[in-house]
Amino acid sequence: MLVVMNHDAADEDVRRIIETIEEMGYEARPIPGKQRTAVGLVGNDGKVDSGRLEALPNVQQVIHVTQPYKQVSREWREEATVITLSNGTRIGGPEVVLMAGPCSVESEDQIMTSARQMRDAGATILRAGAFKPRTSPYAFQGLGITGLELLVRAREETGLGIVTEALEPDMVDVVAEHADIIQIGARNMQNYPLLRRAGRSGRPVLLKRGLAATIDELLLAAEYILSEGNPDVILCERGVRGFDTHTRNILDLTAIPVVHALSHLPIIADPSHGTGVRAKVMPMARAAVAAGADGLMVEVHPNPDKALSDGAQSLYPPQFEELVEQVRIIADAIGRSVTRPLAVPA
Ligand code: PEP
Ligand code: MN
Repeated sequence: MLVVMNHDAADEDVRRIIETIEEMGYEARPIPGKQRTAVGLVGNDGKVDSGRLEALPNVQQVIHVTQPYKQVSREWREEATVITLSNGTRIGGPEVVLMAGPCSVESEDQIMTSARQMRDAGATILRAGAFKPRTSPYAFQGLGITGLELLVRAREETGLGIVTEALEPDMVDVVAEHADIIQIGARNMQNYPLLRRAGRSGRPVLLKRGLAATIDELLLAAEYILSEGNPDVILCERGVRGFDTHTRNILDLTAIPVVHALSHLPIIADPSHGTGVRAKVMPMARAAVAAGADGLMVEVHPNPDKALSDGAQSLYPPQFEELVEQVRIIADAIGRSVTRPLAVPA
């Protein structure tokens, strides 16, 4: 439930709402905004009797949020959530953000080369996994903490933000210490202890859609993170299971306008896992930007043929450079722009 205040409501009026919600046995979440000030009520399972709150001074309206997800909904917050990283990248605003890099951190040389190539091509965030969720237990599992340390070195040299996956709740803190954004992978979208822990990490979270998750399930998974007090969630459409074998998954681009209508959270697209086939990545990346994605996550490897994971869907660096030029034009056509490249340090 949401208590919307009059424009001229005083701090004292807002405080009284918070106290009353707490006296009623619920939690209060103030939602300051440019357009309106509101206080959310959480912790209820079912409808709350709002009469007592409606009677308080300077209450304009009480809204009963109809969706099962509350804090992620547009009813809860009309304005888009914009997440700003320390290198200045803003996710969820008018700019389309580029996150790119290899599937996994494999060696110092590989990740430093990748980082330089991605920055020079115009990406502002480097993606690469240090902890890898692999279908086979015998496949490369990632470099672990060493991988995180190499990512920090890549950030120090290039200025790129870092997004990397946390596979289990106990590793969230160490990933949060090294990364700018904690990735929760498709296989873990409904790992509720992991979501809750990420909700207490103090870092933005990139939440990927599960292999067979509906959009409502994705939004409810995000709600777990917000319910722990972390408002900085970026959703990611990365394809869902289908029956056709020409691609690894079906990249559901409809999810982008659907999520934008239902939620204030940013949503990006991952055409690499979404298709699983290098030749299909560029067309679907272009389509995702045209569909309104707030960013792209693309796998690019300095030498895809030698990659330890996901080489078949990784772009060659010159392909990524070409893609960036194309998405600039597409972004411009829909009144957006692509995040400006980071300055190359002297
Ligand atoms: C990845 O980003 O490398 C990854 C494993 O993605 P997903 O969880 O979408 O499969
Ligand atoms: Mn991958």
